[in-house]
Amino acid sequence: MPEIKDIFDAERIKKLLLSTKNPTKKRIEEILAKAEKMKGLSLEDAASLINAPKKYTDLMFKTAWKIKKEIYGERIVLFAPLYVSNYCVNDCEYCGFHIRNKEKRIKLSLKQVEQQTRFLINMGHKRLLLEFGEHPKMCPIDYVVDTIKTIYSVKEGNGSIRRVNVNIAATTVEDYKKLKKAGIGTYQLFQETYHQPTYAKLHNGPKADFERQLFAHIRAFKAGIDDVGLGVLFGLYDWRFDTLALLSHAQYLDKTFGVGPHTFSVPRLQPAPTVKEKWPYAVNENELLKIIAILRMSVPYTGMIISTRERPNVREKAFKLGISQTSAASCTSPGGYGKKRTLNQFQISDERSLDKVIEGIIDKGLLPSFCTACYRIGRTGKDFMDIAKPGEIHNFCRPNAILTLKEYLEDYAKPLTKEKGLQIIQKYLKLIPSKVIQKKTVERLARIERGQRDLYF
Ligand code: SAM
Ligand code: SF4
Repeated sequence: MPEIKDIFDAERIKKLLLSTKNPTKKRIEEILAKAEKMKGLSLEDAASLINAPKKYTDLMFKTAWKIKKEIYGERIVLFAPLYVSNYCVNDCEYCGFHIRNKEKRIKLSLKQVEQQTRFLINMGHKRLLLEFGEHPKMCPIDYVVDTIKTIYSVKEGNGSIRRVNVNIAATTVEDYKKLKKAGIGTYQLFQETYHQPTYAKLHNGPKADFERQLFAHIRAFKAGIDDVGLGVLFGLYDWRFDTLALLSHAQYLDKTFGVGPHTFSVPRLQPAPTVKEKWPYAVNENELLKIIAILRMSVPYTGMIISTRERPNVREKAFKLGISQTSAASCTSPGGYGKKRTLNQFQISDERSLDKVIEGIIDKGLLPSFCTACYRIGRTGKDFMDIAKPGEIHNFCRPNAILTLKEYLEDYAKPLTKEKGLQIIQKYLKLIPSKVIQKKTVERLARIERGQRDLYF
């Protein structure tokens, strides 16, 4: 295993944040021009952008959007979290599931997992992100694996869940191998904060082991999982430090494994049951948008996720800065879909239905997608990055977004969303670069109308 310093050097980050204070106009323009080349930025460049005066924010946002459009296009991929168990042995000061909270806990039976999956399929979802508290007795890895198998086995009407991503506590190579074998998509784990003294203050229990958390993605890679997700819980410590440390972590993975993280998550601290309300490092919405733009410019090929922790208005702004995936119609309590809610992990700020979120995305001129093709034909890790890097994503992802949106419109959409969705499909169909793929997409759209499903490139 490496040393912490190999992944991020706290002293160097602090120095960079000081030495790049008050960057000149020339320096900022140089960095933005470099960002437009889409080869990423150095930590020093990112530190200068972090320190850029307010008057440059618009320029930074424009550059981030240009990069997002070039690489990811206009697509926004949708998913829902599925909370499976809120039993937890840890005491994370910010989380409603911490061990001191004496409210009743629940863990879904496999029958309940199946019911919740049916409910989510009937909304139109195709991708789930599983969430578990850490509890070796109540939630051993074999239970996690059985949950995944149960979800993949459910067929409901024309739908099924085609990709299961997982967010569980840091674990061993052996356990990660089991997750890989169960067919997970991305393994996500957030460092929460890279600032060790703050991390130590906020955690108790097995998660308090900073190195266990920091080296988890390396163990996942060793187990053969090549799509991993990183994240910071913004608001625990100074976002400037945590953003640079997150970038450094991504650069380390890229250098060491030949592929960087598949996704960054940018959760922001939200009110949670039995959790204190005031936090000294709270991040405001403008700062969050700046973080997203800086991450987009610094690591252009890593997907970026925003959740329903954020208000619709902020989410929609973030889509035009670099976000490529978003959750919709989420519930943060186990068994909460369609049922009375149990203990919530934290409050969400976007209560809209999936249909309304989709309508909102279309109204912004963007293209909602339920695509899961890459993972299912093995275009993961480096293979995915290889198609992403030369901009080829438009010949694969745009048609796949169109086809999966068409499925949604046929099977689940409200009439107005269907009308708007069909129009946006026509708009983007014309923008598929390859005429051959364009023609094939038209043929496949007709096949979907005749009742076929799950067609992809
Ligand atoms: N228990 C595992 C863990 O902690 O790594 C799995 C994920 S936990 C259910 C999901 C994430 O929720 C945590 O990593 C944390 O970043 C986030 N979270 C916890 N409390 C939160 C809060 N009050 N507001 C926003 N996000 C929160
Ligand atoms: Fe448990 Fe995860 Fe919440 Fe910490 S963040 S208390 S480990 S569920």
